[in-house]
Amino acid sequence: MTEQSPPSNTPSPAGLGSDSSSREYEAMVTRSREPAAKRLPDITKGLSPIALTKCGCGEDKNEAADACETCLERWRLRRGWSRASGIKARHTEISSWPLLAEPVQTSKHPDAVAKFQQAVAMIREFLNRPEGATFLALIGNRGTGKTQLSCVAVYQSIFRDREARRRDTVDLMSDLKRRFGGDGDADGDWLREWERPWLLCLDEFQDTAESVFSTVTLKRMLNGRYEKCRRTILIANVKDAGEFAELVGPRISDRCREAGGVIVCDWPSFRGAT
Ligand SMILES: [Zn+2]
Repeated sequence: MTEQSPPSNTPSPAGLGSDSSSREYEAMVTRSREPAAKRLPDITKGLSPIALTKCGCGEDKNEAADACETCLERWRLRRGWSRASGIKARHTEISSWPLLAEPVQTSKHPDAVAKFQQAVAMIREFLNRPEGATFLALIGNRGTGKTQLSCVAVYQSIFRDREARRRDTVDLMSDLKRRFGGDGDADGDWLREWERPWLLCLDEFQDTAESVFSTVTLKRMLNGRYEKCRRTILIANVKDAGEFAELVGPRISDRCREAGGVIVCDWPSFRGAT
């Protein structure tokens, strides 16, 4: 048999017998098997134009959308920065300065509360200064709220559309080591990534890596941030400015004193104080 027969379960339309009509039939069957959506008429034709209203920022927005495209893009950026912020779960509850003050006020040490408020004011001033602020040192005893202070600084920067991150210094050094195992410009990529955020808080800075390469690369990164006028908060469990200078070297400790500040958290621990 030379003539191609249509599938037996499909009714053969009348008059389709020759080779060419058989091809037409095949085409018709193929069309009928295409997904329905492809064959639907364009339902947007003839509809009225999309209604516009005002977004909270004052720009026009589609009535059905939550915000204008600019605001939506800004929210997407903030979400990405929050995810990469490095803030640990136990520090996500407090994201604003007033919330930070609440648990502290129940402390039994009025002196600690006053000093803590002063530290908050200094950090806010460091973040708000239009220019010139680069390095801030947050040093002192464990349990004084240094990490939580730096987390609020990260949140508040992100809320103001600035990329901000925190890391334990030892984790940052492991990241460098891991990436340097690969090919190419690994330390260049690492430097670019960590020089970029507007704010970087490096916690547990006393745990700086021992290897010469890590130490040199870390200092190159901090220097790069200084050159780009990025803000860096270095947090360390050392008792005073002298011990901090010993830890970070004269260059960084001078920059902290001249272009940011050194906050000594020497109040009693808040842990178990309430
Ligand atoms: Zn908007």
